[in-house]
Amino acid sequence: MLIVQKYGGTSVADPERIKNIAKRIIKYREEDNDVVVVVSAMAGETDRLLNLAHSINKFPDEREVDVLISTGEQVVSALLAITLKTMFCDAVSLLGHQAKIVTDSSFTKARISHIDKNQIMSELNKGRVVVVPGFQGVDEKGNITTLGRGGSDTSAVALAAALDADLCEIYTDVDGVYTADPNICDRARRLDKISYEEMLEMASLGAKVLQIRSVEFAARYNVPILVKSSFTDGEGTLVCKEVLDMERMEVTGVTYNKNEVKITVAGVPDKPGIAAQLFSALSDANIVIDVIVQNISHDNLTDITFTVAKADGKKAFKIMEETALAIGASGVAIDENIAKVSIVGLGMRSHAGVASKMFSALAKEGINIEAITTSEIKISCVIESKYGELAVRTLHKVFGLDAEYVAEEK
Ligand code: ADP
Ligand code: ASP
Ligand code: MG
Repeated sequence: MLIVQKYGGTSVADPERIKNIAKRIIKYREEDNDVVVVVSAMAGETDRLLNLAHSINKFPDEREVDVLISTGEQVVSALLAITLKTMFCDAVSLLGHQAKIVTDSSFTKARISHIDKNQIMSELNKGRVVVVPGFQGVDEKGNITTLGRGGSDTSAVALAAALDADLCEIYTDVDGVYTADPNICDRARRLDKISYEEMLEMASLGAKVLQIRSVEFAARYNVPILVKSSFTDGEGTLVCKEVLDMERMEVTGVTYNKNEVKITVAGVPDKPGIAAQLFSALSDANIVIDVIVQNISHDNLTDITFTVAKADGKKAFKIMEETALAIGASGVAIDENIAKVSIVGLGMRSHAGVASKMFSALAKEGINIEAITTSEIKISCVIESKYGELAVRTLHKVFGLDAEYVAEEK
């Protein structure tokens, strides 16, 4: 078998942990598998490097940021290859440009366009473990690029797809994908399996256990992903095509996201073309809009509210102030204290009343809903940020997801 394994930041946080994962890799080799290993930077390292750059300039040059932050993964790749060789397992590290992981040139959020598998295959054929730094690629001009935060997951799945691997294992600090973030909901349960579709929604709505692009790749190329803990032995969670024996509750998981801000443009003239004008100003600036709400018009004036990623908040606000002036709107407000809580599940397709159950549960806790958005398999509500974790726990319980054991017994 050919297996791609990815180890996250906490799994490679120090030489002792690197030694532990080396043992795991050697075990797979001894079972006659070919192994490609993708590593993250040591936990906290990418933040440390970014802070260094930001201490010099609030808006550092993005090409140079990628040169800087890609080093975290490079350090771990070398350390792991050294460790494996010390333990008599032949290994070689191949950086992004050597493994030929080619991306576009959108520094700090590059997308993989193709991977030339020949270099890796020729090393595997020599009987070596190939260690590849996650998160980094190279553009057509030879510049180093990075794939966005959490991007090592995407490196791993993309490699698994390109190499036609039998399995992609993602080793992290939790032993699988849970019904909610186990760090904020102690009654969360591990799922044995989850469909690509649900995992895509969970990842895009805040479950950072897998980067969303990794799930997109997996779904497109039908790569099975097994999410496991590098600290304990367990079955993990298989992310795969929808299968019939999957649990079919109304809701599979609850997520929340604190990384958005809400912008309201007030007193907007209610006439054709205005929304197009507002939102094209944002799309021209490459800003992605999430939830949109337009209020009922009074006196031919309406309010338009939308959310964008926190990172784009200030820029979006400035653009809206200019646009508001141009279209004769009365004002623009920004609210940073919001959270988006979501429920996700294929089961929603066949259950009625899921939305009203969600809204009533939030109301019972005195949580006001500021905006709503839905798709076939998810419902999201924008609420005040201080209620985010309470909302997750409330919905987790109401939709019957709570584990039966008592938290203290964990
Ligand atoms: P790594 O460094 O290994 O890539 P991450 O920190 O990126 O790890 O992702 C693992 C974290 O994802 C967990 O510690 C957990 O807090 C968080 N998480 C959020 N939602 C979920 C979920 N539904 N299931 C499991 N983990 C989740
Ligand atoms: N080191 C990068 C990050 O912290 C990539 C990753 O760990 O997946 O975002
Ligand atoms: Mg991660």
